[in-house]
Amino acid sequence: MNLGKFPRRGYVRTETPIEFLPNFSKALGGKVNIYIKRDDLLPGCGGGNKTRKLDFCIADALKKGADTLVTCGAVQSNHARLTLAWAVHEGLDCHLVLEERVKGSYKPEASGNNFLYKLLGAGSISVVPGGSPMLEEMEKVAAGLRAKGKKPYIIPGGASNALGALGYAACAQEMTEQLFRIGLDIGAIVLPSGSAGTHAGVLAGIFGSNAGISVLGMNVSRTKQAQEELVYKLASETAELAGVSHPLPTSAVTCFGDYVGTGYSLPTETMIEAVTLLARTEAILLDPVYTGKAMAGFIDQVRKGAFPAGTNLLFLHTGGSPALYAYLDLFK
Ligand SMILES: *Cc1c(COP(=O)(O)O)cnc(C)c1O
Repeated sequence: MNLGKFPRRGYVRTETPIEFLPNFSKALGGKVNIYIKRDDLLPGCGGGNKTRKLDFCIADALKKGADTLVTCGAVQSNHARLTLAWAVHEGLDCHLVLEERVKGSYKPEASGNNFLYKLLGAGSISVVPGGSPMLEEMEKVAAGLRAKGKKPYIIPGGASNALGALGYAACAQEMTEQLFRIGLDIGAIVLPSGSAGTHAGVLAGIFGSNAGISVLGMNVSRTKQAQEELVYKLASETAELAGVSHPLPTSAVTCFGDYVGTGYSLPTETMIEAVTLLARTEAILLDPVYTGKAMAGFIDQVRKGAFPAGTNLLFLHTGGSPALYAYLDLFK
């Protein structure tokens, strides 16, 4: 892979830390050593994984002469917040289309990311019912903007196309270099798997560099099978775009569908336990929608003895803690 040939904006100025979690590892029985990759500390207002993907996508938008970004997400979308934040940074307008995946969940006065949409000055916010064709909805907004003489560029949900996923192929390279420097042999990388750009990009990067580290995705919305198909397709496209010459085997994709609970963004008991445990052992904040559920799945696998004693494991912290403040009632 030669990722240097793709234009990007340079939002990721330095590598994010890999830290050992001694207290958390001990709280889980001490048989495995758990490390965390702190992508919650990426630059961008509030941190989180979308910055790596937007680095490539917004470079493409500017190359194509755009003056406005249009994107979509759920009502408490970290991706919408970060797209807006980088748009502000670049002097671009930004319009958001929010999908109300849980009926009645859009509250104009809500805290968390919703508060930040307003503080950061979103050009417009349109809310559409769950299940709406989001690309078409964004096209409608873009058509309206074009009629006013603007040059909109549409970024798909989560910036999860092959171009955006390159950001996580780059992160995979970053992680293998760091692990080499620390001298650490990792058995598996565990990450949340949502719109799939993170999972697909890491997979493409690990596969493309023959690192042989398994990548385990914890689903936040879909079933195991649906998510594995989504990840496989995007990871294959990403690997191809990155110039990886061998096709990705389907066996490289592993997703766990058991930790979603009743649906996307809906709380589970084990998510609350995971968020609370990491806060109280390491003072690191997770989020209720993605990293909390992914960590709950990881904790369950560790407790079930899925990893041999002595294994080093790396959890990719994709951010999202600004959303915590929209879910205060859960943690009372
Ligand atoms: C978007 C998001 C994810 C999921 O990443 P995808 O690339 O969409 O799979 C995980 N964690 C947080 C905090 C996110 O905002």
